[in-house]
Amino acid sequence: MKTYFKHSLMAVFAIIALTGCREQLDQDSVFPHLPVLDSTQATYPFDKYLYESYQKPYNIAFQYKLADESTDVDYNLVPVNYDKAQIVAHAIKYLWIDAYSAQMGPDFLKSYAPRIINVIGSPAINAAQGTETLGVAEGGIKITLYNMNDIDLNDIEWLNFYIFHTMHHEFSHILHQTKSFPKEYEQISAGKYDSQSWQYRSDEEAYKLGFVTPYSMSEAHEDFVEVISCYITDPRETWAKRGFTMAEDHTHIVSIDESKEGVDILTTKINMCKDWLQEKYNYTLDSMRAEVQRRQDALSYDVVMNDSYGK
Ligand SMILES: [Zn+2]
Repeated sequence: MKTYFKHSLMAVFAIIALTGCREQLDQDSVFPHLPVLDSTQATYPFDKYLYESYQKPYNIAFQYKLADESTDVDYNLVPVNYDKAQIVAHAIKYLWIDAYSAQMGPDFLKSYAPRIINVIGSPAINAAQGTETLGVAEGGIKITLYNMNDIDLNDIEWLNFYIFHTMHHEFSHILHQTKSFPKEYEQISAGKYDSQSWQYRSDEEAYKLGFVTPYSMSEAHEDFVEVISCYITDPRETWAKRGFTMAEDHTHIVSIDESKEGVDILTTKINMCKDWLQEKYNYTLDSMRAEVQRRQDALSYDVVMNDSYGK
């Protein structure tokens, strides 16, 4: 808990606007610039796992060796430890790739997923602003995740905070950039966005105004993907703080506290996200939440590292 509160006060997403590069992304490129598998290397078993679990089925490159050209030189960064890189790769496979594959089929990620997942060992601290960058997305092509040397598979709150909230957030940006964003969503909280000082708002202030997080207040597209990401990853207790009760089997909202300000607004937003995903992608948000929550409940080192979920 203390990690979350400590960081939630200073966290900021540095998100670079996505650009329209989808046509290129959908091609079956096989990363000709990547080194070929070399069985004489000490990292061969892990590199082979990455090839067979990421690159071959989904056309995703998982980068864990710190390369200058793919790293932000504004930060003082250290590479992810080799053992931690393996834990991160298995965790993302289990809680993100396999969850989308189970719900949407393997072609969905192959078509829309970012092409590169870049993991860095140290956190990215913005000393001047007193903030910490959790992840960066570049053009819908690459996602960089920081602080991966601190990964702990027993701490789902940490995993969601540093990895999965960002992953679902960025992936949802790709989806709304690929098929037209629902314009009516921009009207729900029109006049309440605060792009300059959202980071000074508390969670409770955000909830009261009908936002899932303070960052949602930055603008409508961020709001939209924050709702989707929080709907998938946040546990029942977090939704209770917002005034919602989630079904025991994780599949839907069973009741809402209508006396709380913001609940009606947030309900409208959730329903609009659900309808849009269903209509554009045949993607059922309740089912995705259930899939991810079941996986979170079953999370253990052995299940994740041995890819033994449901077996
Ligand atoms: Zn964003």
